[in-house]
Amino acid sequence: MTKTVFEKSKEGRKGIKLPNSGIKETNLEKFIPSELLKKEAVILPQLTEFDVVRHFVNLSKKNYCLDSNFYPLGSCTMKYNPKIEEFCANLAGFNDIHPEQDEKDVQGALELMFKLGESLKAITGMDAISLQPAAGAHGEFAGMLIAKMHFEEKKEKRTKVIIPDSAHGTNPASAKMCGFDVIEVKSGSNGILEPAAVKELLDKNTAVIMMTNPNTLGLFEENIKEISDLAHKNGTLMYYDGANLNAIMGITSPALMGFDIMHINLHKTFATPHGGGGPGAGPVLVTKRLEKFLPIPIVKDNGNNYYLDYDIENSIGKVKAFYGNFSIFVRAYAYILSLGKEGIQSTSKDAVLNANYLKEKLKILFDLPYDKLCMHEFVLSGENQKQYGINTLAIAKRIVDFGIHPPTIYFPLIVHEAIMIEPTETENKETLDEFVEILKQIEKEIKTKPEILLNALSKACSSRVDETIAARQLNLRWKN
Ligand SMILES: *Cc1c(COP(=O)(O)O)cnc(C)c1O
Repeated sequence: MTKTVFEKSKEGRKGIKLPNSGIKETNLEKFIPSELLKKEAVILPQLTEFDVVRHFVNLSKKNYCLDSNFYPLGSCTMKYNPKIEEFCANLAGFNDIHPEQDEKDVQGALELMFKLGESLKAITGMDAISLQPAAGAHGEFAGMLIAKMHFEEKKEKRTKVIIPDSAHGTNPASAKMCGFDVIEVKSGSNGILEPAAVKELLDKNTAVIMMTNPNTLGLFEENIKEISDLAHKNGTLMYYDGANLNAIMGITSPALMGFDIMHINLHKTFATPHGGGGPGAGPVLVTKRLEKFLPIPIVKDNGNNYYLDYDIENSIGKVKAFYGNFSIFVRAYAYILSLGKEGIQSTSKDAVLNANYLKEKLKILFDLPYDKLCMHEFVLSGENQKQYGINTLAIAKRIVDFGIHPPTIYFPLIVHEAIMIEPTETENKETLDEFVEILKQIEKEIKTKPEILLNALSKACSSRVDETIAARQLNLRWKN
């Protein structure tokens, strides 16, 4: 087991040695209010520079990451993020500016934000954008506030938001946080939302229909246009969860499907390393008539220079400090420029091709509840394996033994023992084939030697934990 820095600490060890300054030592206590003074010394680990370097390099090697191996985590788009985007985000001109600098001194940064916004408008077909929100769920929240303002302005009291059972879990949470009542609509037997089911629930109280497309089964919502026509006839707005834009960009667009509001996850689709909590960016986009509600500031071009417009008539206000998460914008813009129009389109085609390739190979081993052409991901079920006393959790743990990150499991909720796989566009055929071979071996073990699965995680650095206790009684404190 790796020792903690506290365990490695030895009295008197230091990382630096300062020369004698020649200045007499003074007690600083008299300059600090007594209530702010600590009563006892802070215990800090005492280590040399080399101890610290070795400790953290070794810890970093225990951290599974995309740059070391395959990461087919459904819904999360764990694709390769080219290093040129990191290079750009770290350029001093972008990295060292202060958000309170005068606009005339940060024209380059504002130009980048403006042009990123224009590119995202072109990709989605929407009319206006605010880059402010810091994540997908945050973009949804901003979008739902925009819907709320729209109906307040029209003096219509609409309280309901219809959301399919195959939507991402953040959708109902965002709607609820904005004070709407969430009405769930069941998707049809083929995993797709049926217009008739929507029609039944739609009434004068319905503010928004929120759809995730492709839905969490990885399926394209084929009736989407018909549903948005129904909604608009009813005065209802359409919200598009565009977190997984790598499935459709360059091929079709939310605007063509009739959506009024949407968000994009720049950190999933546009080359920001993510997972572990951020930072991310979830720009919110709208059609012309909703532009006046966008969160401020909006980056604009007056012909001579770029500026931040805080003067938006009915803006929902500010949802994030300063520009939003600027370094994510740099990565996203560099990514779009490096791919170009054709590159953006082939990204989507490759994402869909890879997912369908894996799906066809794996449906022989595991149950595939919705067996049809998928988009960027698909969902298997471990239901058939339960007869051998093995559940999906055990399969996921066993995958770790092969040095691969397991897929998303037990989500979406509409599939029992769900195994949600998103290979992403950046993996090659050899990697996908290797994954198939691993699952073939695991499937064989389930039938012949299930005890191997129950003792999985033999090579991982952590032993098997009790998931319930680990989640409910989280203890992060280091104890002596
Ligand atoms: C990831 C995801 C979200 C949430 O995005 P965050 O940036 O994690 O808040 C919302 N919807 C879908 C479909 C997603 O895949």
